[in-house]
Amino acid sequence: MPLEGPRDSSIAIVGDGFGSAIVFATAVYLGFRPDQVTIYGTNDNPVNTYQQFAFNLGQTVLRSESESHFLPADWPTFAQLECWSRGSPSPMFRSIGRKYNPGVPDILAEVTVVARRLGWNDNRFPRHVGWLQREHRPSPHFLLFDEEANYIGRAKHVMLAMGHGPLSFPPLLAKAREDPPTGDRIVQAYEPKVYAPDGRYVVIGAGIASVNEWANALDVGAKVISLLRNPAPDEQDLNTPRCLFEARGIDVFQGLPFEQRIAFLGKILKGTTPKRRGWAARVQRGVAEGRFEQIIGEIDRLEPGPAGLRIHITSRHGPDPGWLDVTGVISGTGFVKSVLTVPLLRRLVEHYNVPVEEGRLKLRTNCGIPGLDMAVSRLCMMGIFANTVIPHGDTIAGLKYIGRRFAVDCARAERVRQRSFFARLGMQLSLAGESARAMKTVRRMEQLA
Ligand SMILES: Cc1cc2nc3c(=O)[nH]c(=O)nc-3n(C[C@H](O)[C@H](O)[C@H](O)COP(=O)(O)OP(=O)(O)OC[C@H]3O[C@@H](n4cnc5c(N)ncnc54)[C@H](O)[C@@H]3O)c2cc1C
Repeated sequence: MPLEGPRDSSIAIVGDGFGSAIVFATAVYLGFRPDQVTIYGTNDNPVNTYQQFAFNLGQTVLRSESESHFLPADWPTFAQLECWSRGSPSPMFRSIGRKYNPGVPDILAEVTVVARRLGWNDNRFPRHVGWLQREHRPSPHFLLFDEEANYIGRAKHVMLAMGHGPLSFPPLLAKAREDPPTGDRIVQAYEPKVYAPDGRYVVIGAGIASVNEWANALDVGAKVISLLRNPAPDEQDLNTPRCLFEARGIDVFQGLPFEQRIAFLGKILKGTTPKRRGWAARVQRGVAEGRFEQIIGEIDRLEPGPAGLRIHITSRHGPDPGWLDVTGVISGTGFVKSVLTVPLLRRLVEHYNVPVEEGRLKLRTNCGIPGLDMAVSRLCMMGIFANTVIPHGDTIAGLKYIGRRFAVDCARAERVRQRSFFARLGMQLSLAGESARAMKTVRRMEQLA
């Protein structure tokens, strides 16, 4: 059962997703009592937000590899856990060749076990945080208020783990979505949708979400037009080059001036596309059957049409494709990256003059919010809005990197008495064992790499 009233905590986590589970589990592992940590959010399971996006996208395995998991310490890795669970060495062999991707049901089973065993939901206050106020007396801390300005607690340290901003659409499509005759035929890749087998769909973009949608539409027999503004991007398995996942890569990235970090992110995160056996085969079959084509250009006009929509496409890279009749448009354009689109962050920026450039917070290298973050009372950011410091901040590995360092800082500031080595080992093994048992009960997903 979630909490019924406000309380004082050592750590408040704003947000109830994957990031919250990592910070909570690490804090408890380090020695905080569960009731010293409060999670703020309305979901009763930390998987809910991600699970909905993954379902809408038809994702079956993670893009990331064996290190992406939710136990408080790194060993056993996910591949080892799956070997243990299913009694097969294959995940470990795949992992040695960097061709192992945990199944989505497996990872969800693991997070659910960790959250349930450590009491994540029992320490959740079911409100959205609308305002944070920095107080200095009697000692530095934060007051928390909900969206209706009701008081919802106090905390010494706060982690902002609020996930992504709103879904992003090209301006013409954003406007057409508000118009009833066209609105329900334009969706984001991350939104729920159903493809008609005899339909013809335009999928914008060539990132991982768009590639998934090509496959989803082709699978039901529909036709797909892949629409790219520019010729195809570099092949890339995750959103970030693998070298940036390692401490040295992060150090090099953090050493760049802020403007260069932004320019670099803009380059590497732009429409990266993984090449997967499953997708490639489906697309090749679609091409052979005349059900898949690629067009370079942009939609500049859109109106209702006999098939549902009529769209006009112009191209800067060749002759204009002109007018097309299509059933719907799927936009794989991801999330709005500007922090100013998130009400709580916008209020903090405006009230405390937190520096922002090109919609990105100028975070400290420890992901602290400048002007508000103190060693004795931390205010820290994780997830997508921290990727100006940790380039893979919006991956499970990035969440772990930021969340664990934050929890260690809090434990140091609060002089928390660490659990003994054997207590931590026992906790890790028992969580791993229960996760392995839970994984046995969920469907094993086919590896795609
Ligand atoms: C479709 C998809 C596939 C992905 N695949 C992978 C993958 O294969 N490998 C990988 O490593 N990563 C992957 N990721 C990224 C990974 O899921 C995210 O990094 C992770 O979910 C981010 O965790 P988070 O806690 O920051 O945000 P979320 O999990 O999005 O949770 C944030 C939560 O905070 C809540 N919230 C927001 N504002 C407030 C507020 N003011 N008060 C209270 N609560 C609030 C939100 O409602 C939400 O429930 C994927 C992401 C998506 C969308």
